[in-house]
Amino acid sequence: MAFKLYNTLTRKKEVFKPIEKGKVGLYCCGPTVYWHQHIGNLRTYIFEDVLKRVLMYNRFKVMHVINVTDVGHLTSDADVGEDKLLKALKREGLPLTKEAMLKLADKYFDEFKQDFEKLHILMPDVWCKATEHIPEMIELIEKIEKNTYTYTTNVGLIFDTSKFKDYAKLGRLNLEEIKEGARGKEDPERKHPSDFALWITNQPNHIMLWDSPWGKGFPGWHLECAAMSMKYLGDQFDIHCGGKEHIQVHHTNEITEAEAATGKKWVNYWLHAEWLVVPKGKMSKSKGEFFTISDLIEKGYDPLAYRYFCYTAHYRTPLTFSWEALDSAKIAYENFKNRIIEMKEDLVSKPKDNKYQEQFTAAVNDDLNIPVAMSVVWNLIKEKDLGNKEKYDLLLDFDKVLGFDIRGFKRVEISEDIQKLVDEREAARKAKDFKKADEIRDKLKEMGIVLEDTPQGVRWKRA
Ligand SMILES: [Zn+2]
Repeated sequence: MAFKLYNTLTRKKEVFKPIEKGKVGLYCCGPTVYWHQHIGNLRTYIFEDVLKRVLMYNRFKVMHVINVTDVGHLTSDADVGEDKLLKALKREGLPLTKEAMLKLADKYFDEFKQDFEKLHILMPDVWCKATEHIPEMIELIEKIEKNTYTYTTNVGLIFDTSKFKDYAKLGRLNLEEIKEGARGKEDPERKHPSDFALWITNQPNHIMLWDSPWGKGFPGWHLECAAMSMKYLGDQFDIHCGGKEHIQVHHTNEITEAEAATGKKWVNYWLHAEWLVVPKGKMSKSKGEFFTISDLIEKGYDPLAYRYFCYTAHYRTPLTFSWEALDSAKIAYENFKNRIIEMKEDLVSKPKDNKYQEQFTAAVNDDLNIPVAMSVVWNLIKEKDLGNKEKYDLLLDFDKVLGFDIRGFKRVEISEDIQKLVDEREAARKAKDFKKADEIRDKLKEMGIVLEDTPQGVRWKRA
């Protein structure tokens, strides 16, 4: 079955063809570790996880790289402003030293990895930190410089975008419009508004500085992704992903740097995730309205209910966040879980020809259409003609993509208090005191426990 992905470069769904048969190089722009990641950021990582899982489902061997930005990401896209990590040190009242900065970066990186675990996002083969790859970045700049794409201003070493003919290709940019926009205005010596810094100098107050042929300084943000992805995946590789906010500047500049250095096409497929939106627009830290996975857990949500919520929209459509919408996803996920738990407790075999496998593969291979794949999953769960064993085996297979770990689904341990009430109700029922039995049933319902009277006795589940 053809496996198709939507490529931002061509604005088309294309049949995926790897550079090397059976193998895929996958690079995903990672976090700037200066604060908590919010659930909008994590929507992008869930999409990338699904992509990786679908690649593996199609039997590709995936080499997955994610970078960790611990230096050089400035508050402004115009290569000026404060380093986000420096801003974070001030926010948290920490000493303005290199040690404190690296410690802070580690703290938020650890938190990010915990979010991955909670959401069942598979870890990459390589996590690479910007501060640990400065020599590779300097080497890349030297190649770009040798190919005569650079000039110097008071900000640092600048890339001359007018010399790179494909500059506008990924973003379908209108360079005239950029001229009138804000980009580059803060550096008066810049030749073109779209030009950007490769190496930033003349910032003596910056905490982390390295020696380089262009003076003491630090790398521009885009450079780290270009240098590190090529180190681990080669000069040319298959897929590069990120949030759609990166198309216009960050990814455009990454391509420019990589291709100016090598003179070759760099990445074949660019995939971008749409945003998680709140009434004010994109969920973002700068607007202040954001929630983390810890916030969700505190409010009683299973992080996987958030994963399930993300499956209600295709990754290229905006997903509107509200607590009501998350509640609906939570209920649907609980239902999904309970149906599978009940299925597992009664694994009768009744084989019958079916098309679920084919339908599921067709959906995920059609540019990762998870909402359609989930409807196939639900049709399978509700199927009456197929045995539970056959259904469960198919679900285990689909779970390689879905990532819920349904093998681990089990009835929640009932607390002693609840068990006592269940027993009391059983006793009342046996004594034909139906009034009391009903009262206890209602009380349990308020506690989120639903009872079912079956021929085998009373069974309970979480509502
Ligand atoms: Zn990047």
